[in-house]
Amino acid sequence: DKAQIGVTGLAVMGRNLARNFARHGHTVALHNRTTAKTKALVEEFGDEGAFVATETAAEFVAALERPRRLMIMVKAGPATDAVIAEFAPLLEPGDMIIDGGNAHFADTRRREKALREQGIHFVGTGVSGGEEGALNGPSIMPGGSAESYESLGPLLEDIAAKVDGVPCATHVGPDGAGHFVKMVHNGIEYADMQLIAESYDLLRGAAGLEPAEIAEVFRTWNTGRLESYLIEITAEVLAHTDAATGRPFVDVVLDQAEQKGTGRWTVQTALDLGVPVGGIAEAVFARSVSGHADLRKAAHGLPGPARRATEGSGFADQVERALYASKIIAYAQGFHEIAAGSAEYGWDVDLGAMATIWRGGCIIRARFLNRITDAYRADPAMATLLTDDHFAQALGDAQDAWREVVATAARLGVPTPGFSSALAYYDSLRADRLPAALTQGQRDFFGAHTYRRTDRDGAFHTLWAGDRTEADA
Ligand code: NDP
Repeated sequence: DKAQIGVTGLAVMGRNLARNFARHGHTVALHNRTTAKTKALVEEFGDEGAFVATETAAEFVAALERPRRLMIMVKAGPATDAVIAEFAPLLEPGDMIIDGGNAHFADTRRREKALREQGIHFVGTGVSGGEEGALNGPSIMPGGSAESYESLGPLLEDIAAKVDGVPCATHVGPDGAGHFVKMVHNGIEYADMQLIAESYDLLRGAAGLEPAEIAEVFRTWNTGRLESYLIEITAEVLAHTDAATGRPFVDVVLDQAEQKGTGRWTVQTALDLGVPVGGIAEAVFARSVSGHADLRKAAHGLPGPARRATEGSGFADQVERALYASKIIAYAQGFHEIAAGSAEYGWDVDLGAMATIWRGGCIIRARFLNRITDAYRADPAMATLLTDDHFAQALGDAQDAWREVVATAARLGVPTPGFSSALAYYDSLRADRLPAALTQGQRDFFGAHTYRRTDRDGAFHTLWAGDRTEADA
């Protein structure tokens, strides 16, 4: 029997996706540069379904039914290009190459264009959920042609996570749309994690709670509107005790966070598109700051406030509200970036559908995402999520607590770049007037960059070095 799908690249992700396809009754062709990994997979898990182990590229391609569906799960970057170069000459028009690695969407656009000229569908596909998700149901974000999705979609929807019976997989849009959306998903994930980390830091540093007590706070929050995978695992991590020392696990881990790059891409791309994603940027920078041991060591003795641990029992509720409000901001910024990318590249991404496929399988899965789907269903052209009835009300209800928490953090010297920047974004968007008018005056003064007026159309320049009369520019 020919295989419905083939997976090349059998490290943790590829191996688990292959098993997931097989467990759903599909015949899966297997290939890996190092053939021992292919053999090991069949030896260990061969009884889970129908696998066709192959060694050479030619054998692998020959094992696939037509149109061929060949999924690449190799290390993102040059390896992806090497694998495409190896297989593309063996394929025929109508065949599909599915790249499930974390590729940059610009690389995906380039690869899609090159392969389209050969009549091959290149489907850059975001896959979220880590190795556990790959095996038991990830969130899947495929780009590429609508035609490819007709044949590929049912397979992907089979193996994806399901929420209320709805698969967490849908066609995102042409060429790089899938990898773009996966990138922004990861950027939002950074922001979510940072906001949770700041909540923990405040509960500890300002309210004086111990990690085990904070775990209980998060467990309670997880029964309400903040219910999500990240809040759930936060409680687990905080409740964990280090076996070697008997101390809270979180106290024995080095406080320097690492990153692989998708958060950074989200921010770089936002800068290119002119989209303000301060909350996501602060999350990326917060990891960067944590990793600068040299700077932190140099600055360690600088003075801070004398007062610590003074907040009372109502403080946790205030933090919950600040967290929910800041989370709304981070998602609003991420969805703005997706809307901008979709407009720039002509992808026509259904924003509500993105929230739907993130409800399960992926790292940011949360009850909250239903609200985003509802918001875009009610008004697909909404300029920002913040003005949706539910979110506007939540922000309004939260704002006093949110301001109190940011003020407390500043007073006590607890760094909260996520909460603070989210609040500043909220206040910037709702402001009557921004000081950007002054910025324009400065720009015109030193660089004759001109300005527009509130009362008349056109561009103007003031003769700052002369008699300060105004001229049409
Ligand atoms: P790795 O990123 O560690 O990649 C290892 C695989 O790539 C191996 O199969 C390896 O083959 C193959 N490979 C590397 N270089 C080449 C090359 N030049 N030619 C052919 N094959 C090569 O594996 P993961 O399973 O962690 O991730 C796979 C992809 O999925 C990556 O793009 C990753 O970004 C993405 N991803 C990972 C997630 C995760 O949680 N880990 C989540 C979502 C996406 P060999 O065995 O011969 O060395």
